[in-house]
Amino acid sequence: MDRRSLIKRAGIAGVLAAGMAPAVHAQAAVRWRLASSFPKSLDTIYGGAEVMAKKVREMSGGKFEISVHAGGELMPPFGIVDGLQGGTVEMGHTVPYYYYGKNPAFALGSAVPFGFNARQMHAWMNHGNGRKLMNEFYSAYNMMSFNGGNTGAQMGGWYRKELKSVADLKGLKMRLGGGLVGEVMSKLGAVPQSIPAGEVYQSLEKGTLDAAEWVGPYDDEKLGFNKVAPFYYYPGWWEGGPEVSFYVNNKAFGALSSENKVILEAACAFAAEDMLSKYDTLNPIALKKLVANKTQLKPFPKDVMDAAFKASMEVFAENDKKSPEWKKIYADMKGFQRDQLLWFRFCEAGFDNFMYTRKI
Ligand code: CA
Repeated sequence: MDRRSLIKRAGIAGVLAAGMAPAVHAQAAVRWRLASSFPKSLDTIYGGAEVMAKKVREMSGGKFEISVHAGGELMPPFGIVDGLQGGTVEMGHTVPYYYYGKNPAFALGSAVPFGFNARQMHAWMNHGNGRKLMNEFYSAYNMMSFNGGNTGAQMGGWYRKELKSVADLKGLKMRLGGGLVGEVMSKLGAVPQSIPAGEVYQSLEKGTLDAAEWVGPYDDEKLGFNKVAPFYYYPGWWEGGPEVSFYVNNKAFGALSSENKVILEAACAFAAEDMLSKYDTLNPIALKKLVANKTQLKPFPKDVMDAAFKASMEVFAENDKKSPEWKKIYADMKGFQRDQLLWFRFCEAGFDNFMYTRKI
């Protein structure tokens, strides 16, 4: 008698009594938990993990389920690497530069000041040595990474007062994401502050904070910073194309069937592309609203950009001495970036710059 007709005759209870697993147990044979660094309010970036999990569920016919947990639900928002290293969760969704304090090399998996734009980052990760080198480095933390999305170039943040020159950064108390940009800003005289997102608005209003950077128009608009710090600067030279990562515990990945491994990788790639295109769609709409609501959109003064570039190169040279992993991976990134700049400056930038001068 085959299994199906047995179940039909004996009913589920009879099959269970006979010690046989009913067919329904074949569903969701693999269940994983994913810890995100992000709150649900950041729907685009947090949502990337939900997009990925939905694709995994659909592609596996419901046999591979990943539950998504917002920052703080299973572990602190910046505790993801510890959680993966210890195997508390199978998967995480985070921005590598949050872990700069563990080793500067983490920043290379997301963004460094004056680094890649999103396209260039993906080229390095997917077809250069980026993913390979980062995963070699991550193996010390029992984990590997997949594409986890990208916000595109971020804005340079909100300022209560206009910046006329680099001298205006002296003593400026600024909320910044990531330790690396904090080191660069310190060299320029600013005083980096680490303040939870929920307190930034009040601190700007009271003046205990002079400036704050967050993401870009779509995410920033929801927080209302334009009401308390109207000067909105660009570009966020420390995040030209910051990459988000899906981290996966090595042992958990090794235990997947070859089919599920491919499903997971494909779902991550899909979610990553989806996030960037969502940001590109939503940012211009939010920027128009912000400008209509008295936001003063301004480019950073040239001397701020020049001084920031110089200070960044100094910090990179210091990191070369501090971390052999940084040194090895950054050397590769830099070589790749030289070629990318050579290509983009002629063709991509030539086309883009012409188009910005036309009305359509
Ligand atoms: Ca940012």
